[in-house]
Amino acid sequence: MPTPRIDLHTHSNLSDGTQTPTELMRAASVAGITTIGLTDHDTTAGWAEAAQAAAQLGIQLLPGIEISTRQGPASVHMLGYGIDADNTEIIELNSQATQWRNSRAKMIVARLAQDYPITWDEVAAQALGPVGRPHIADVLVAKGIIADRSAAFTGLLRPGSKYFVNQPSPTPKTAIEVIKAAGGVPIMAHPAGRGLPLPEYIMEDLVESGLSGLEIWHRDNSEQGKHELLELASAYDLIVTGSSDYHGAGKPNRLGEHWTEPEMLERILAAITS
Ligand code: AMP
Ligand code: ZN
Ligand code: FE
Ligand code: FE
Repeated sequence: MPTPRIDLHTHSNLSDGTQTPTELMRAASVAGITTIGLTDHDTTAGWAEAAQAAAQLGIQLLPGIEISTRQGPASVHMLGYGIDADNTEIIELNSQATQWRNSRAKMIVARLAQDYPITWDEVAAQALGPVGRPHIADVLVAKGIIADRSAAFTGLLRPGSKYFVNQPSPTPKTAIEVIKAAGGVPIMAHPAGRGLPLPEYIMEDLVESGLSGLEIWHRDNSEQGKHELLELASAYDLIVTGSSDYHGAGKPNRLGEHWTEPEMLERILAAITS
């Protein structure tokens, strides 16, 4: 048995990663990963191809999803592992998210188009699934307007920029309830990615709604945030995960830069009811 190396949060080009599910599984295998989570934004379209590639490579695939939600002004990403992809509530949530994502991306492009040569068709051509800011960034990069995706996220496409438009989203509680209804395990992604976690009374409420765990080992979480999250996890006996949030060439995050402990993976697998 190889040493388990478990990375539970990655994206393929069915959302805003740059590799196909097959290429992503190959890259995971090369990186020595034994269990890989595929968690595309608001879609499960990459699962089948990933499962086939993972089986051929002899690595374990944990299929998942990353749902964009909003709690007041805070953007909160909810990972859902092991959901039934054919569950009608999940399908409904994903198709609503795709509609919202596309109309919001169109609004951002319309604002950009007043100052830069960019069209919706060019952006849509970058995306195989729901459109996000990374796809808009790719067109700006291709045209030499900015250097890379990261420059877009600190510049033209950052919240607060005159081109930015908020993404309409369900609440974290709704995402948790739908993931649970679909037999999956809800884990909050990078909960301290913009500084500190949500206030404890909200986290408590989400745990009561079925939140099962926290992605603490993630590059975006602040040090103070990780400290608070560990206390929360211990107080509520939550699952703790670590992952890369790899997007291929689209982000600096490298496969396996953070790991999940094998006993935590066991807890996730045991909690899946789909
Ligand atoms: P959106 O969901 O359209 O608002 O876009 C946000 C997504 O872009 C996040 O979920 C990340 O996956 C991705 N992202 C955020 N920051 C960066 C970055 N610096 N470089 C590339 N992708 C990023
Ligand atoms: Zn992403
Ligand atoms: Fe995220
Ligand atoms: Fe992600």
